[in-house]
Amino acid sequence: MRPIQASIHLSALEHNLAIAKSKASKSKILSVVKANGYGHGLLNVAKGLRASDGFAVLGLDEALALRNAGYSQTILLLEGVFSPDELLAVSEQAISIVVHCDIQIEMLELASIPHPISVHLKINTGMNRLGFKPHDFEKVRARLEHCHNVADITLMTHFATADEPLGISSPLALFKELTQESSYPCSLANSATLLGFPEAHADWVRPGIMLYGTSPVAGQSAASFNLKPVMSFNSQIISVQTLNVGECLGYGHRFTAERKTRIGVVACGYADGYPRHAPNGTPIAVSGVLTQTLGRVSMDMLYVDITDNPSAGVGAPVELWGEQVSVDDVALASGTISYELLCAIAPRVPVIVVN
Ligand SMILES: *Cc1c(COP(=O)(O)O)cnc(C)c1O
Repeated sequence: MRPIQASIHLSALEHNLAIAKSKASKSKILSVVKANGYGHGLLNVAKGLRASDGFAVLGLDEALALRNAGYSQTILLLEGVFSPDELLAVSEQAISIVVHCDIQIEMLELASIPHPISVHLKINTGMNRLGFKPHDFEKVRARLEHCHNVADITLMTHFATADEPLGISSPLALFKELTQESSYPCSLANSATLLGFPEAHADWVRPGIMLYGTSPVAGQSAASFNLKPVMSFNSQIISVQTLNVGECLGYGHRFTAERKTRIGVVACGYADGYPRHAPNGTPIAVSGVLTQTLGRVSMDMLYVDITDNPSAGVGAPVELWGEQVSVDDVALASGTISYELLCAIAPRVPVIVVN
């Protein structure tokens, strides 16, 4: 068997959830576990986050998987339903739904379902992705209030720049102005908002990435927020090559040795979810020692510099990311964000759950 694997640390999930709770003292926590729990496995992360007040997912299949596994707390479909037939299961399993467009209100009005449904009314405060424009809010709210299939209403928005210098002050002011007359519970904060803007915590917070132990804010480390990495992505060296000065490495000969260079060939490539865009010099650890990648990442293998670690040979353990190598740093080097790397862990990588 290839020596690659991803380990999911339940204690780190529990720790990060406790951090979220301590930051959002009064708000309830809706842990965002979309995209297969940000690549960690939906049921794996639900286990570590079982003390959450609720879970947020995209698909009805994910919501039902959580219910079938015995989770009885709030489960929210972040994009609502995609067709009217989904409303029956939503009603039967007491799943909450986002309502972000007119068609979804029509579906609710026309549905014949056993129990009314909890609705999160999504308001577009400037991100312009999902939600009703502010000038439609009153009309939409009245329509939902009169719909016999609606059990209760929560007001919701999502910020585009909570992790940027621009911040959230103007969309937050807009949301507050619109909703000040109503007494409905509100839900505003993703991880960056939860960590950076206490004034936007409201009744529910919706942390995602911070629960997985990576930073929601560029330039600020996860450790600075006291978050612990949940995933360790590990493999081993399966071959060692020694390059003399002037010899080249891998596809495209992207690296040329300027000194005698010992190279470890690692059983991990872009088909495992490692970013092909990782440049020479991307951080990686071998036998617990930090070093760098060299050469172009191929489908099944990549190269690591072990010149200064002469005892590292075939079988030496490699950490692609985890406790020693922050996934944020691998993402930064590769021109992306931790979210993309975590979600891209390939199905062929065995995932194990540890404490
Ligand atoms: C994904 C998502 C979140 C979580 O965002 P993070 O940046 O991972 O904390 C919160 N709210 C909505 C609507 C989302 O789509």
